[in-house]
Amino acid sequence: MSRYESQKRRDWNTFGQYLKNQTPAAVPLSHCTFNHVLDFLRYLDQFGKTKVHLPGCVFFGQPDPPAPCTCPLRQAWGSLDALIGRLRAAFEEHGGSPDQNPFATAPIRLYLREEYTKELVAGLSRNDTEKEHLLKVSSLQFQPQSPHKRNSNIVIKF
Ligand SMILES: [Zn+2]
Repeated sequence: MSRYESQKRRDWNTFGQYLKNQTPAAVPLSHCTFNHVLDFLRYLDQFGKTKVHLPGCVFFGQPDPPAPCTCPLRQAWGSLDALIGRLRAAFEEHGGSPDQNPFATAPIRLYLREEYTKELVAGLSRNDTEKEHLLKVSSLQFQPQSPHKRNSNIVIKF
């Protein structure tokens, strides 16, 4: 099994577990909407390792801040984008209809674009491994859907 396939299987299991743990009751996959996916993405932020400065931070806009700050760590946009790509494929591989694929909806694309913009304006602070990873993920997974998005992609600088 390729690295991509095993990662996809792991992501799919994680998402399934997340739906199962919803309160007051587990959400069956057939009832899963983009709202559950958005909540899942926000939930993942607590495990993130990317510092995205808040607008009030003195280091806002600085890619390499000279001192630590209290801004929260988040998931990198590139990781979320790649994750959504894998889950979108997994959903259909598990019998989900492409027309009802919650991972392929406009609100998810919008969320990802907002996260991406936040990282751009806030400046990025990451270690080299993460940079490398993000560049790799971006080049493999990023499929521009509009001229606007394509332009945005070119703007990425580390
Ligand atoms: Zn900060």
